[in-house]
Amino acid sequence: MGMLATHAAATKSNGHANDRIKSYAPATGELLGEVPVMGPDAVRAAVDRARRAQVAWGALTVEDRCKRVLRFRDAIVDREEELTDLLSRETGKPLQEALVHEVSATATVATYFAKKGPEILAPRDVPLALLKHRKAVLHYVPRGVVACITPWNFPFYMPFRDIFLALIAGNAVVLKPSEVTPLIALKAKDLWDQCGMPADLFQVVTGYGPTGAAVIDAGVNFVVFTGGVATGRRVAAACGERLIPCVMELGGKAPLVVCRDADVELAARGAVFGGFSNAGQVCISVERVYAHKDVADALTKRMTELTKGLRVGDPSSRSVDVGAIIFPKQIEVAEDHIKDAVSKGAKVLAGGKRVQSTGQFFEPTLLGDCNHSMTVMTEEIFGPIVPIMKVDSDEEAVRLANQSHLGLNAYVFTKDRDYGERIAQRIEAGSVLVNDVLTNGGCPETPFGGIKQSGFGRVMGDDSLREMCDVRHVNVERVGIGSDNPMWFPYSDKGLSLARKATKLLFGGGGLLKKLANIV
Ligand code: NDP
Repeated sequence: MGMLATHAAATKSNGHANDRIKSYAPATGELLGEVPVMGPDAVRAAVDRARRAQVAWGALTVEDRCKRVLRFRDAIVDREEELTDLLSRETGKPLQEALVHEVSATATVATYFAKKGPEILAPRDVPLALLKHRKAVLHYVPRGVVACITPWNFPFYMPFRDIFLALIAGNAVVLKPSEVTPLIALKAKDLWDQCGMPADLFQVVTGYGPTGAAVIDAGVNFVVFTGGVATGRRVAAACGERLIPCVMELGGKAPLVVCRDADVELAARGAVFGGFSNAGQVCISVERVYAHKDVADALTKRMTELTKGLRVGDPSSRSVDVGAIIFPKQIEVAEDHIKDAVSKGAKVLAGGKRVQSTGQFFEPTLLGDCNHSMTVMTEEIFGPIVPIMKVDSDEEAVRLANQSHLGLNAYVFTKDRDYGERIAQRIEAGSVLVNDVLTNGGCPETPFGGIKQSGFGRVMGDDSLREMCDVRHVNVERVGIGSDNPMWFPYSDKGLSLARKATKLLFGGGGLLKKLANIV
């Protein structure tokens, strides 16, 4: 591990509010730049500026907002090479990953929601079952200032996925990027300013955890948090204290179930790609494989060959599959998992240790003979390790897949698609893919998020755009019933008797309500 990178880890774990944060390239240890640590006053001023800018933005039609955000998307696409290059240097990920999983995935989300936004946010009539004389309409109005607090593993895609939605919904945005990868956020902010977007509408506040806490304290109206479970608890508690609605996108422990009838080659390639893409630093990485005993040996053999064939190293050399470990503490986490697993009987089939280099690298590691007594099967890894456990039946695989406090993504491999769908429906996770890995992470049409301690709320999917809004229900009379309403004061025998008759009529044998609304 490079000396400079070690220094970055120390500053993060101390959490002291140094004046400046230095960002180092994890692949080389090179110092890439410095950013300020913003305190509560600076954060509050940024939130206030955003709030003022939101007024004019929120008054635009959704169509106009969509047109304008596409200008920003175009700038991102035009400057793709610059962004991809900085992303690759600040995170140590291969250029292809920076382009496909970050820049291009962001452009996909922006394009989908800019096209569908006006339809998704159009006012909606709600037919009323009983109060036929009234008309109910739901309007989706901006919440105000949306805070995005984001991690270091996808420092471009994670924030901008949510930022585009917040903006289309009419909000201003304050982004608190991870202290480990702040430069790409500031680069995007430069791009925003250069392409003529309202400067104050989008703010970036840099700093450590307390800067994130200060954003919530400054009275934002909605928080989208992506990060670890422990920090998520603190952020959710701070939001709860202030009654700020929030979405929590937390950790994952994605199981990959290889059924008795699976295509072994497909499952092996899927597990290796899903486990080592972004050096395993993905919340939906393949974090544990349950292989049916009939295919387990062939699968393990093929996964071992594929894992041994992966090229690890500095992504600037281009011929690299697995890049650097972005946050150095994750190297120790990986070592601890492997030590624990081996002490309980696991076999290291490939990799197993850090790479001796000036950069922060860890060998893609495959572990065989694993079981649930090992932390590697039960706790989040967030690094390049894939453990394999042999099981007696598909049933056992499902039971073990569900034996987790996390539930973000899951994967099932089988040649029988109907069977795969049935298995998928029994796995406790926010998303389950059959014969594929990771792709839903970049799919704008479908909701993404977790259950259990993986969090709550969803990003992406049409409902997530509405979630960026307050819902205002406007209710207007179609036909006036006048001021002589027997249900209003003063109460009387006449009113009571009318109410009795109505109750019998509606819910009694005739079931008028059923006929009226077809809802009971
Ligand atoms: P953290 O939870 O440590 O940090 C996330 C963000 O929260 C960072 O910007 C961090 O700042 C900030 N923060 C820290 N303390 C506070 C606080 N008290 N109030 C407000 N903000 C705070 O996550 P990591 O950056 O370490 O990312 C890794 C984790 O993220 C993994 O567990 C992974 O599973 C999860 N993740 C989940 C995803 C999902 O979609 N479900 C996607 C990607 C990652 P700073 O960095 O300066 O400490």
